Amino acid sequence: MARKSLGYIELVWICDSCQTKNPGAIKSCTSCGAPQPINVRFEKVDPETFNLVKDEALLRMAKSGPDKHCPFCGTRNLASATTCVECGGDLTVGATSRPTGEVVELAGQTPAITPPPTTSARPKISKGMLILIVVLVLGLCALMFVVLSQLFKTSALNATVSSVKWERAIVVEAWQQVEGSGWMSDLPGDADIIDCQSQFRYNSDTYKPNSTEVCGTPYTVDTGTGFGEVVQDCYYQVYEDYCRYNMMAWTTVDTLSLSGYDLNPAWPTANLSNTQRFGDQTARYTIWFDADGQTYSLTTSDLALFQQAYPGSDWTIEVNNFGSVSSAEPAN
Ligand SMILES: [Zn+2]
Ligand SMILES: [Zn+2]
Repeated sequence: MARKSLGYIELVWICDSCQTKNPGAIKSCTSCGAPQPINVRFEKVDPETFNLVKDEALLRMAKSGPDKHCPFCGTRNLASATTCVECGGDLTVGATSRPTGEVVELAGQTPAITPPPTTSARPKISKGMLILIVVLVLGLCALMFVVLSQLFKTSALNATVSSVKWERAIVVEAWQQVEGSGWMSDLPGDADIIDCQSQFRYNSDTYKPNSTEVCGTPYTVDTGTGFGEVVQDCYYQVYEDYCRYNMMAWTTVDTLSLSGYDLNPAWPTANLSNTQRFGDQTARYTIWFDADGQTYSLTTSDLALFQQAYPGSDWTIEVNNFGSVSSAEPAN
């Protein structure tokens, strides 16, 4: 949040001794002459209409930094003073500056006190209960382990290859115009813009060009000078052009595939034009086995393994409880 200053208003303070309401800039009570004690807070008079200070001298005072109290007689002095206006004491050592930065409350209102967080009493878990929970969790883990290891346990079977299949595919790409969209600042260098629309992109705490300012309710902050600074917390809704564009790119236009039921896989071929090329290629090899009257299959990308799978050859396969083959190798 960016804090935005709207200007300064003069505050008031109430004399401890005689309860007189004094203007903020006045440093000793106008009625009884008592100096303003350091623990007296400045308050504001007007809740809504800010009567902003126009006078140059007062504005300078408001911006001059917090007043300080004389270490000898307690009198409030300007930040720039080096000797006390009342007793002439040295203010360069030991003077106490008035607090600043606090939000100023309306006169007669006590500052909002935030209630202390209620400490919720945590339910106590007895030691026996805790041990029981740990034992239960451990037991559950052990059970899961047994079940999972049973499910994934494999057994070796003697198998015979019954049939094979290979499948190969290759992508054909073309260098052609494609349409895309994106934020103006992120567009590729060779993008050919079709049209753009201004859209909300993000919120920023600091000012950004092409943005909408959103501000909260103004409030007053103590400057320690008897004047309050009226401020507003603002953020910026930043807009940017979102564009549609054309550009040239390699694009998938076709996928050629070829398959066969032998041990000699081949890649699909095609006559490509000079704006086309082959892209990604994939291969899948499947071997079917007979073992103990059951059929099992293994799909792999391992061409060397596949090419040993002569129909009728003997293999050893590892089968898990789901009936899937986890590995296979030719029997010697
Ligand atoms: Zn007084
Ligand atoms: Zn003094």
